[in-house]
Amino acid sequence: MNETYTAASAAREKQFTQVAYDEFDARHHGSIHVPIYQNSLFAFKSYQEFDHAFTALLDHHVYSRGNNPTVTYLEQKLAELEGAEKARCFASGMAAISSAILSSVKQGDHVICVHQAYGPTKEFLSVYLTKFGVETTFVDGSSIDNFKTAVRPNTSLFYLESPTSGLFELQNLRECAAYAKLVGARTIIDNTWASPCFQNPIELGIDLVVHSITKYIGGHSDCVGGVILGSTDIMDQIGYNEYMLLGGLMTPQTAALVAKGLRTLPLRMQRHEESGLLLADFLSRKPYVTRVNHPGLSSHPQHELGKSQMKGYGSLFSFVTNEPLDKMREWATKLNYFKIAVSWGGFESLVTANPLGAIAGYEGTTIVRLYVGMEDPKDLMADIDQAWESCNT
Ligand SMILES: *Cc1c(COP(=O)(O)O)cnc(C)c1O
Repeated sequence: MNETYTAASAAREKQFTQVAYDEFDARHHGSIHVPIYQNSLFAFKSYQEFDHAFTALLDHHVYSRGNNPTVTYLEQKLAELEGAEKARCFASGMAAISSAILSSVKQGDHVICVHQAYGPTKEFLSVYLTKFGVETTFVDGSSIDNFKTAVRPNTSLFYLESPTSGLFELQNLRECAAYAKLVGARTIIDNTWASPCFQNPIELGIDLVVHSITKYIGGHSDCVGGVILGSTDIMDQIGYNEYMLLGGLMTPQTAALVAKGLRTLPLRMQRHEESGLLLADFLSRKPYVTRVNHPGLSSHPQHELGKSQMKGYGSLFSFVTNEPLDKMREWATKLNYFKIAVSWGGFESLVTANPLGAIAGYEGTTIVRLYVGMEDPKDLMADIDQAWESCNT
């Protein structure tokens, strides 16, 4: 081993074994995949055992809006990868996010959320929760001072997303976690971009991690899901309350699909990281690109911070251009390999082009978001060039 064999790369290597290996499970006759337990309910041999299950509902299989063995299997695999005590899988990323937030606030509380967080998360905080008397302040998360200015005696939650998935801004997770503890607030982070492979916020002091499983973890654009991860204490509160009472559960079929995708997560992430960096660098040298937002580029203002808290990089990034929106949409239409679509995290490359006029300093510019899939990066670069040439002839 040499000096470049860092703790981060050791952690990355270990995940290859974590996803490939399962302990022999006698219940399943050595079945190499977890079976799909297509059950709503589970029966008991005696009333004594039935009563006992109700004394610790989260540790027994009673009803699938509680525990289902296929879903439990996926939860344990995800907890191991993320370095969390417990995980709970949900029907979607938003079911996980809204449940995690609801478990952290009560009437009259105040939330601080990063201003570039995922759109529906911001809407849940700024519109939906106001009817229960919960108020949110949105801050530029790049400086801890902005949290200090926004904090109030009733602040119960810091909601983070690092990097954000539009402009790829980071928060200093160690600083945010330490400051939140000081003021008695909980921290939640949306860790979807980095995946459990490239960022483990719990080891930096964050309380709860959420992922949209729909993206990298699922990885094949074939299912919608979400997960919350954290300490046994908080996760059991969520299990009894938001999980069982709101009922946004993940089905066993989805859990089995996701479990299959998980086998290749570290391998896929390695490919996405390499290709994403190649494409980001390629675009940063194009005359029509004014800025590429990718934390892996040394031109990113928070590149060093990223290196201190991430183990690698996702392959979703954006670039800013002064070219008109119509032209960039024509370019996007002429791309062959990049499909025009929402979401990301599958095997296929994607593109969207949007106006960026609403943000101070970006008036009149266009933002293009690219998701780099599993294709040969040389094909993707050639595709970008052919589409651009065809728009300019
Ligand atoms: C997609 C996404 C979500 C929401 O997940 P769903 O599975 O669509 O509900 C949350 N955060 C980020 C960063 C996302 O990209």
